[in-house]
Amino acid sequence: MKIEDVIIVGGGLAGLTAAIDLARSGHKVHLFEAKEYPQHKVCGEYVSNEVIPYLQHLGVNVFHHGAVYIDQLQISDSQGRLAKSPLPMGGFGLSRFEFDRLLFARATALGVQIKILKVARIQFAKDIFTVTTTDGQSHFAKVVIGAYGKRSNLDKDLERPFAYKKQSWLAVKSHYNEAEHPGNVVGLHNFEGGYGGLSRTETGMVNFCYLAHYHTFKQYNGVADFNRKVVAKNPHLARFLSQATPTFSEPLTIAQISFDEKATVENHVLMAGDSAGLIHPLCGNGMAMAIHSAKLAAGVVRRFLDSRRPHRAKMEKRYRKEWDKAFRQRLWYGRKLQGILMNAKYMDLGIRMARSSTALMRQVITRTHGKTLVP
Ligand SMILES: Cc1cc2nc3c(=O)[nH]c(=O)nc-3n(C[C@H](O)[C@H](O)[C@H](O)COP(=O)(O)OP(=O)(O)OC[C@H]3O[C@@H](n4cnc5c(N)ncnc54)[C@H](O)[C@@H]3O)c2cc1C
Repeated sequence: MKIEDVIIVGGGLAGLTAAIDLARSGHKVHLFEAKEYPQHKVCGEYVSNEVIPYLQHLGVNVFHHGAVYIDQLQISDSQGRLAKSPLPMGGFGLSRFEFDRLLFARATALGVQIKILKVARIQFAKDIFTVTTTDGQSHFAKVVIGAYGKRSNLDKDLERPFAYKKQSWLAVKSHYNEAEHPGNVVGLHNFEGGYGGLSRTETGMVNFCYLAHYHTFKQYNGVADFNRKVVAKNPHLARFLSQATPTFSEPLTIAQISFDEKATVENHVLMAGDSAGLIHPLCGNGMAMAIHSAKLAAGVVRRFLDSRRPHRAKMEKRYRKEWDKAFRQRLWYGRKLQGILMNAKYMDLGIRMARSSTALMRQVITRTHGKTLVP
Protein backbone atom coordinates (compact mmCIF):
# COMPACT_ATOMS: atom_id res chain seq x y z
CA MET A 1 0.00 0.00 0.00
CA LYS A 2 1.58 3.25 -1.20
CA ILE A 3 0.76 6.24 0.98
CA GLU A 4 0.96 9.59 -0.80
CA ASP A 5 1.61 12.85 1.03
CA VAL A 6 -1.33 14.80 -0.36
CA ILE A 7 -4.40 14.03 -2.42
CA ILE A 8 -6.50 16.96 -3.62
CA VAL A 9 -10.07 16.21 -4.62
CA GLY A 10 -11.34 18.63 -7.28
CA GLY A 11 -9.26 20.66 -9.69
CA GLY A 12 -11.02 24.01 -10.03
CA LEU A 13 -9.40 27.23 -8.78
CA ALA A 14 -8.95 26.11 -5.18
CA GLY A 15 -7.66 22.61 -5.94
CA LEU A 16 -5.22 23.68 -8.66
CA THR A 17 -3.93 26.62 -6.59
CA ALA A 18 -3.24 24.42 -3.56
CA ALA A 19 -1.57 21.86 -5.84
CA ILE A 20 0.70 24.48 -7.45
CA ASP A 21 1.61 26.01 -4.08
CA LEU A 22 2.56 22.64 -2.58
CA ALA A 23 4.38 21.46 -5.72
CA ARG A 24 6.46 24.66 -5.76
CA SER A 25 7.75 23.83 -2.30
CA GLY A 26 8.79 20.36 -3.44
CA HIS A 27 5.82 18.30 -2.28
CA LYS A 28 4.42 15.50 -4.36
CA VAL A 29 0.77 16.17 -5.07
CA HIS A 30 -1.94 13.95 -6.54
CA LEU A 31 -5.13 15.58 -7.76
CA PHE A 32 -8.37 14.01 -8.96
CA GLU A 33 -10.68 16.06 -11.17
CA ALA A 34 -14.01 14.70 -12.42
CA LYS A 35 -14.05 16.54 -15.78
CA GLU A 36 -11.63 17.03 -18.70
CA TYR A 37 -9.89 20.45 -18.95
CA PRO A 38 -10.82 23.08 -19.88
CA GLN A 39 -14.55 23.59 -19.27
CA HIS A 40 -16.81 26.59 -19.19
CA LYS A 41 -18.24 27.03 -15.68
CA VAL A 42 -21.17 28.98 -14.31
CA CYS A 43 -19.46 32.06 -12.87
CA GLY A 44 -19.51 35.85 -13.20
CA GLU A 45 -15.83 35.78 -14.26
CA TYR A 46 -14.92 39.00 -12.46
CA VAL A 47 -11.87 38.36 -10.25
CA SER A 48 -10.69 40.72 -7.52
CA ASN A 49 -7.14 42.04 -7.99
CA GLU A 50 -6.33 41.02 -4.40
CA VAL A 51 -5.00 37.68 -5.73
CA ILE A 52 -2.63 39.09 -8.39
CA PRO A 53 0.65 39.11 -6.36
CA TYR A 54 0.03 35.58 -5.10
CA LEU A 55 -0.84 34.27 -8.59
CA GLN A 56 2.34 35.88 -9.94
CA HIS A 57 4.31 34.24 -7.14
CA LEU A 58 2.85 30.89 -8.27
CA GLY A 59 3.99 31.63 -11.84
CA VAL A 60 0.61 32.57 -13.28
CA ASN A 61 0.25 35.96 -14.98
CA VAL A 62 -3.33 36.39 -16.13
CA PHE A 63 -2.57 39.62 -18.00
CA HIS A 64 -0.22 37.72 -20.33
CA HIS A 65 -3.31 35.78 -21.34
CA GLY A 66 -5.61 38.65 -22.14
CA ALA A 67 -7.31 39.28 -18.78
CA VAL A 68 -9.25 42.55 -19.00
CA TYR A 69 -8.63 45.32 -16.41
CA ILE A 70 -11.80 46.30 -14.56
CA ASP A 71 -11.94 49.38 -12.32
CA GLN A 72 -15.59 50.47 -12.26
CA LEU A 73 -18.79 49.02 -10.83
CA GLN A 74 -22.26 49.84 -12.12
CA ILE A 75 -25.21 48.64 -10.11
CA SER A 76 -28.89 49.03 -10.95
CA ASP A 77 -32.19 48.15 -9.30
CA SER A 78 -34.94 46.30 -11.16
CA GLN A 79 -36.26 49.61 -12.56
CA GLY A 80 -32.83 50.35 -14.00
CA ARG A 81 -31.89 53.17 -11.59
CA LEU A 82 -28.12 53.19 -11.76
CA ALA A 83 -25.31 53.92 -9.31
CA LYS A 84 -21.63 53.91 -10.26
CA SER A 85 -18.45 53.60 -8.25
CA PRO A 86 -14.76 53.08 -8.85
CA LEU A 87 -13.63 49.69 -7.50
CA PRO A 88 -11.16 50.39 -4.65
CA MET A 89 -8.79 47.57 -5.59
CA GLY A 90 -10.12 46.73 -9.04
CA GLY A 91 -10.21 43.39 -10.72
CA PHE A 92 -9.97 41.57 -14.01
CA GLY A 93 -12.22 39.70 -16.42
CA LEU A 94 -11.09 36.22 -17.44
CA SER A 95 -13.20 33.27 -18.50
CA ARG A 96 -13.15 30.21 -16.25
CA PHE A 97 -12.28 28.23 -19.37
CA GLU A 98 -8.99 30.15 -19.62
CA PHE A 99 -8.34 30.56 -15.89
CA ASP A 100 -8.66 26.84 -15.15
CA ARG A 101 -6.63 26.03 -18.29
CA LEU A 102 -3.79 28.32 -17.15
CA LEU A 103 -3.67 26.83 -13.65
CA PHE A 104 -3.91 23.29 -15.03
CA ALA A 105 -0.94 23.97 -17.36
CA ARG A 106 1.11 25.42 -14.48
CA ALA A 107 0.29 22.51 -12.14
CA THR A 108 1.19 19.97 -14.83
CA ALA A 109 4.47 21.76 -15.55
CA LEU A 110 5.36 21.55 -11.85
CA GLY A 111 4.79 17.80 -11.83
CA VAL A 112 1.40 17.61 -10.10
CA GLN A 113 -0.11 14.22 -10.91
CA ILE A 114 -3.56 15.07 -12.26
CA LYS A 115 -5.99 12.29 -13.03
CA ILE A 116 -9.35 12.90 -14.69
CA LEU A 117 -11.35 10.65 -12.43
CA LYS A 118 -14.28 11.30 -10.11
CA VAL A 119 -13.84 10.55 -6.43
CA ALA A 120 -16.64 8.41 -5.01
CA ARG A 121 -15.63 8.29 -1.37
CA ILE A 122 -13.15 9.69 1.16
CA GLN A 123 -12.60 7.69 4.35
CA PHE A 124 -10.29 8.24 7.28
CA ALA A 125 -9.02 5.53 9.63
CA LYS A 126 -5.83 4.90 11.61
CA ASP A 127 -4.47 8.30 10.59
CA ILE A 128 -4.62 7.47 6.86
CA PHE A 129 -7.10 8.54 4.18
CA THR A 130 -8.53 6.14 1.65
CA VAL A 131 -9.77 7.91 -1.46
CA THR A 132 -11.87 5.69 -3.69
CA THR A 133 -12.34 6.72 -7.30
CA THR A 134 -15.30 5.73 -9.48
CA ASP A 135 -13.17 3.13 -11.30
CA GLY A 136 -13.11 1.21 -8.01
CA GLN A 137 -9.44 1.93 -7.22
CA SER A 138 -8.31 2.98 -3.73
CA HIS A 139 -5.63 5.61 -3.15
CA PHE A 140 -4.02 6.39 0.18
CA ALA A 141 -2.72 9.66 1.60
CA LYS A 142 -1.59 11.39 4.79
CA VAL A 143 -3.60 14.51 3.94
CA VAL A 144 -6.68 15.20 1.80
CA ILE A 145 -7.77 18.65 0.65
CA GLY A 146 -11.43 18.79 -0.42
CA ALA A 147 -11.73 21.35 -3.24
CA TYR A 148 -14.65 19.86 -5.10
CA GLY A 149 -16.82 22.97 -5.32
CA LYS A 150 -20.28 24.05 -4.20
CA ARG A 151 -21.98 20.67 -4.24
CA SER A 152 -20.81 17.18 -5.02
CA ASN A 153 -21.64 13.54 -4.48
CA LEU A 154 -19.09 13.66 -1.65
CA ASP A 155 -21.15 16.06 0.49
CA LYS A 156 -23.80 13.42 1.15
CA ASP A 157 -21.16 10.79 1.70
CA LEU A 158 -19.55 13.05 4.32
CA GLU A 159 -23.04 13.69 5.77
CA ARG A 160 -22.80 17.46 5.42
CA PRO A 161 -26.16 18.95 6.55
CA PHE A 162 -26.64 21.39 3.62
CA ALA A 163 -26.52 18.47 1.15
CA TYR A 164 -29.85 17.18 2.49
CA LYS A 165 -31.66 20.53 2.21
CA LYS A 166 -33.55 21.76 -0.87
CA GLN A 167 -31.86 24.97 -2.02
CA SER A 168 -33.72 27.80 -3.68
CA TRP A 169 -31.12 29.27 -6.07
CA LEU A 170 -30.21 28.49 -9.64
CA ALA A 171 -27.75 30.19 -11.99
CA VAL A 172 -27.55 30.72 -15.75
CA LYS A 173 -24.58 31.81 -17.84
CA SER A 174 -23.59 32.40 -21.45
CA HIS A 175 -20.97 34.35 -23.39
CA TYR A 176 -22.17 36.98 -25.85
CA ASN A 177 -20.80 38.57 -29.02
CA GLU A 178 -21.55 42.00 -30.41
CA ALA A 179 -22.37 43.29 -26.97
CA GLU A 180 -21.88 46.90 -26.03
CA HIS A 181 -20.24 46.75 -22.63
CA PRO A 182 -17.19 48.82 -21.62
CA GLY A 183 -14.23 46.56 -20.83
CA ASN A 184 -13.34 48.33 -17.58
CA VAL A 185 -16.82 47.96 -16.06
CA VAL A 186 -18.44 45.16 -14.12
CA GLY A 187 -22.22 45.53 -14.15
CA LEU A 188 -24.50 44.19 -11.43
CA HIS A 189 -28.15 44.44 -12.44
CA ASN A 190 -31.18 43.52 -10.43
CA PHE A 191 -34.45 41.96 -11.62
CA GLU A 192 -37.40 40.37 -9.86
CA GLY A 193 -36.14 37.32 -7.96
CA GLY A 194 -32.51 37.68 -8.94
CA TYR A 195 -29.57 39.65 -10.31
CA GLY A 196 -26.99 39.28 -13.04
CA GLY A 197 -23.42 40.32 -13.73
CA LEU A 198 -21.91 41.62 -16.98
CA SER A 199 -18.18 41.67 -17.62
CA ARG A 200 -15.85 41.30 -20.55
CA THR A 201 -13.46 38.35 -20.86
CA GLU A 202 -10.10 37.78 -22.60
CA THR A 203 -11.86 36.69 -25.81
CA GLY A 204 -13.61 40.05 -26.20
CA MET A 205 -16.92 38.37 -25.45
CA VAL A 206 -19.13 39.53 -22.61
CA ASN A 207 -20.10 37.08 -19.91
CA PHE A 208 -23.65 37.39 -18.65
CA CYS A 209 -24.29 35.25 -15.58
CA TYR A 210 -27.26 35.49 -13.26
CA LEU A 211 -28.56 34.05 -10.07
CA ALA A 212 -32.33 33.59 -9.74
CA HIS A 213 -34.71 32.38 -7.12
CA TYR A 214 -36.11 29.01 -8.20
CA HIS A 215 -39.57 30.00 -6.98
CA THR A 216 -39.71 32.89 -9.50
CA PHE A 217 -37.91 31.02 -12.30
CA LYS A 218 -40.22 28.01 -12.26
CA GLN A 219 -43.22 30.18 -13.16
CA TYR A 220 -41.75 30.63 -16.66
CA ASN A 221 -41.13 28.36 -19.57
CA GLY A 222 -37.35 28.01 -19.42
CA VAL A 223 -34.40 30.43 -19.75
CA ALA A 224 -35.50 32.26 -22.94
CA ASP A 225 -38.96 32.95 -21.54
CA PHE A 226 -37.54 34.05 -18.18
CA ASN A 227 -35.03 36.35 -19.91
CA ARG A 228 -37.75 37.95 -22.00
CA LYS A 229 -40.37 38.37 -19.29
CA VAL A 230 -38.35 38.97 -16.13
CA VAL A 231 -34.65 39.69 -16.74
CA ALA A 232 -35.37 42.17 -19.55
CA LYS A 233 -37.61 44.25 -17.30
CA ASN A 234 -34.39 45.87 -16.18
CA PRO A 235 -33.73 48.31 -19.06
CA HIS A 236 -29.93 47.78 -18.93
CA LEU A 237 -30.36 44.04 -19.31
CA ALA A 238 -33.09 44.54 -21.95
CA ARG A 239 -30.66 46.63 -24.02
CA PHE A 240 -27.89 44.08 -23.56
CA LEU A 241 -30.05 41.09 -24.50
CA SER A 242 -31.51 42.81 -27.55
CA GLN A 243 -28.07 43.75 -28.95
CA ALA A 244 -25.91 40.78 -28.00
CA THR A 245 -25.73 37.32 -29.54
CA PRO A 246 -25.14 34.28 -27.30
CA THR A 247 -22.22 32.13 -28.40
CA PHE A 248 -23.09 28.98 -26.42
CA SER A 249 -25.56 26.66 -28.17
CA GLU A 250 -27.41 26.45 -24.83
CA PRO A 251 -26.77 28.52 -21.71
CA LEU A 252 -25.04 26.71 -18.86
CA THR A 253 -27.25 26.24 -15.83
CA ILE A 254 -26.77 24.95 -12.31
CA ALA A 255 -29.34 24.52 -9.54
CA GLN A 256 -29.39 23.75 -5.83
CA ILE A 257 -26.80 26.42 -4.97
CA SER A 258 -26.27 26.59 -1.23
CA PHE A 259 -25.03 29.60 0.72
CA ASP A 260 -25.35 27.76 4.03
CA GLU A 261 -22.47 27.66 6.45
CA LYS A 262 -20.22 24.62 6.00
CA ALA A 263 -17.59 23.03 8.20
CA THR A 264 -14.02 23.97 7.29
CA VAL A 265 -12.74 20.53 8.26
CA GLU A 266 -14.96 17.51 7.69
CA ASN A 267 -13.87 14.05 8.81
CA HIS A 268 -10.28 15.43 8.81
CA VAL A 269 -10.55 16.62 5.18
CA LEU A 270 -9.41 20.26 4.88
CA MET A 271 -12.07 22.00 2.79
CA ALA A 272 -11.02 24.78 0.41
CA GLY A 273 -12.87 27.04 -2.02
CA ASP A 274 -16.63 26.59 -2.32
CA SER A 275 -16.41 23.26 -0.46
CA ALA A 276 -15.69 25.35 2.65
CA GLY A 277 -18.25 28.09 1.97
CA LEU A 278 -19.70 30.12 -0.89
CA ILE A 279 -20.01 33.89 -0.70
CA HIS A 280 -23.00 35.46 -2.48
CA PRO A 281 -21.93 36.11 -6.08
CA LEU A 282 -22.95 39.78 -5.93
CA CYS A 283 -19.74 40.32 -3.91
CA GLY A 284 -17.61 39.15 -6.85
CA ASN A 285 -15.20 37.57 -4.40
CA GLY A 286 -15.75 33.79 -4.56
CA MET A 287 -12.77 33.13 -6.82
CA ALA A 288 -10.44 35.26 -4.71
CA MET A 289 -11.66 33.37 -1.64
CA ALA A 290 -11.10 30.03 -3.37
CA ILE A 291 -7.52 31.02 -4.20
CA HIS A 292 -6.89 32.49 -0.74
CA SER A 293 -8.29 29.45 1.08
CA ALA A 294 -6.10 27.20 -1.09
CA LYS A 295 -3.09 29.24 0.03
CA LEU A 296 -4.09 28.78 3.68
CA ALA A 297 -4.65 25.03 3.21
CA ALA A 298 -1.31 24.61 1.42
CA GLY A 299 0.41 26.50 4.25
CA VAL A 300 -0.88 24.29 7.07
CA VAL A 301 -0.36 21.11 5.06
CA ARG A 302 3.25 22.07 4.32
CA ARG A 303 3.91 22.63 8.03
CA PHE A 304 2.32 19.27 8.87
CA LEU A 305 4.28 17.32 6.25
CA ASP A 306 7.59 19.03 7.02
CA SER A 307 7.28 18.57 10.77
CA ARG A 308 9.30 15.92 12.55
CA ARG A 309 6.35 15.39 14.88
CA PRO A 310 3.26 16.11 12.79
CA HIS A 311 0.18 16.86 14.82
CA ARG A 312 -3.08 16.49 12.87
CA ALA A 313 -5.38 18.11 15.43
CA LYS A 314 -3.10 21.18 15.56
CA MET A 315 -3.07 21.45 11.77
CA GLU A 316 -6.86 21.30 11.64
CA LYS A 317 -7.25 23.83 14.46
CA ARG A 318 -4.85 26.24 12.75
CA TYR A 319 -6.68 25.91 9.43
CA ARG A 320 -10.09 26.54 11.01
CA LYS A 321 -8.72 29.60 12.81
CA GLU A 322 -7.01 31.07 9.75
CA TRP A 323 -10.04 30.40 7.56
CA ASP A 324 -12.42 32.05 10.04
CA LYS A 325 -10.17 35.08 10.37
CA ALA A 326 -9.94 35.51 6.61
CA PHE A 327 -13.52 34.84 5.55
CA ARG A 328 -16.16 34.64 8.30
CA GLN A 329 -16.90 38.37 8.30
CA ARG A 330 -16.86 38.66 4.52
CA LEU A 331 -19.45 35.90 4.27
CA TRP A 332 -21.62 37.66 6.84
CA TYR A 333 -21.54 40.93 4.85
CA GLY A 334 -22.32 38.99 1.69
CA ARG A 335 -25.46 37.54 3.29
CA LYS A 336 -26.63 40.96 4.49
CA LEU A 337 -26.03 42.55 1.09
CA GLN A 338 -27.90 39.77 -0.66
CA GLY A 339 -30.87 40.51 1.62
CA ILE A 340 -30.77 44.17 0.53
CA LEU A 341 -30.39 43.38 -3.16
CA MET A 342 -33.35 41.02 -3.14
CA ASN A 343 -35.67 43.51 -1.42
CA ALA A 344 -37.07 46.19 -3.76
CA LYS A 345 -37.64 48.73 -0.94
CA TYR A 346 -34.14 48.39 0.54
CA MET A 347 -32.63 48.36 -2.94
CA ASP A 348 -34.39 51.59 -3.88
CA LEU A 349 -33.01 53.24 -0.75
CA GLY A 350 -29.58 51.65 -1.30
CA ILE A 351 -29.30 52.98 -4.85
CA ARG A 352 -30.32 56.48 -3.71
CA MET A 353 -27.72 56.40 -0.94
CA ALA A 354 -25.06 55.00 -3.25
CA ARG A 355 -25.76 57.74 -5.78
CA SER A 356 -25.25 60.43 -3.19
CA SER A 357 -22.13 58.89 -1.62
CA THR A 358 -19.40 57.01 -3.47
CA ALA A 359 -17.65 56.69 -0.08
CA LEU A 360 -20.50 54.43 1.05
CA MET A 361 -20.18 52.24 -2.05
CA ARG A 362 -16.44 51.94 -1.49
CA GLN A 363 -17.04 50.93 2.13
CA VAL A 364 -19.47 48.20 1.10
CA ILE A 365 -17.15 46.87 -1.61
CA THR A 366 -14.17 46.88 0.73
CA ARG A 367 -16.03 44.87 3.36
CA THR A 368 -16.86 42.09 0.91
CA HIS A 369 -13.28 41.85 -0.37
CA GLY A 370 -10.00 40.85 1.18
CA LYS A 371 -6.72 42.72 1.44
CA THR A 372 -4.00 42.09 -1.13
CA LEU A 373 -2.89 38.49 -0.75
CA VAL A 374 0.84 38.60 -0.18
CA PRO A 375 2.75 35.43 -1.09
C1 LIG B 1 -23.87 32.53 -10.32
C2 LIG B 1 -22.51 32.68 -9.77
C3 LIG B 1 -21.72 33.75 -10.15
C4 LIG B 1 -20.44 33.90 -9.62
N1 LIG B 1 -19.69 34.98 -10.00
C5 LIG B 1 -18.49 35.19 -9.46
C6 LIG B 1 -17.69 36.30 -9.84
O1 LIG B 1 -18.04 37.10 -10.72
N2 LIG B 1 -16.51 36.48 -9.20
C7 LIG B 1 -16.05 35.62 -8.26
O2 LIG B 1 -14.96 35.85 -7.73
N3 LIG B 1 -16.76 34.53 -7.90
C8 LIG B 1 -17.95 34.29 -8.49
N4 LIG B 1 -18.67 33.17 -8.16
C9 LIG B 1 -18.08 32.20 -7.22
C10 LIG B 1 -17.01 31.34 -7.92
O3 LIG B 1 -17.49 30.82 -9.13
C11 LIG B 1 -16.60 30.19 -7.00
O4 LIG B 1 -16.38 30.69 -5.71
C12 LIG B 1 -15.34 29.48 -7.50
O5 LIG B 1 -15.59 28.88 -8.73
C13 LIG B 1 -14.89 28.44 -6.50
O6 LIG B 1 -13.84 27.66 -7.02
P1 LIG B 1 -13.64 26.17 -6.47
O7 LIG B 1 -12.30 25.75 -6.94
O8 LIG B 1 -13.96 26.09 -5.04
O9 LIG B 1 -14.77 25.30 -7.20
P2 LIG B 1 -14.91 24.89 -8.73
O10 LIG B 1 -14.24 25.83 -9.63
O11 LIG B 1 -16.36 24.60 -8.91
O12 LIG B 1 -14.09 23.52 -8.81
C14 LIG B 1 -14.52 22.34 -8.20
C15 LIG B 1 -14.04 21.20 -9.09
O13 LIG B 1 -14.24 19.96 -8.40
C16 LIG B 1 -14.62 18.98 -9.35
N5 LIG B 1 -15.32 17.91 -8.63
C17 LIG B 1 -16.55 17.94 -8.04
N6 LIG B 1 -16.82 16.76 -7.47
C18 LIG B 1 -15.73 15.96 -7.69
C19 LIG B 1 -15.42 14.61 -7.34
N7 LIG B 1 -16.27 13.85 -6.65
N8 LIG B 1 -14.23 14.10 -7.76
C20 LIG B 1 -13.35 14.87 -8.46
N9 LIG B 1 -13.61 16.15 -8.82
C21 LIG B 1 -14.78 16.69 -8.43
C22 LIG B 1 -15.50 19.75 -10.34
O14 LIG B 1 -15.57 19.11 -11.60
C23 LIG B 1 -14.80 21.10 -10.41
O15 LIG B 1 -13.89 21.21 -11.47
C24 LIG B 1 -19.95 32.97 -8.68
C25 LIG B 1 -20.73 31.88 -8.30
C26 LIG B 1 -22.00 31.72 -8.84
C27 LIG B 1 -22.83 30.56 -8.42
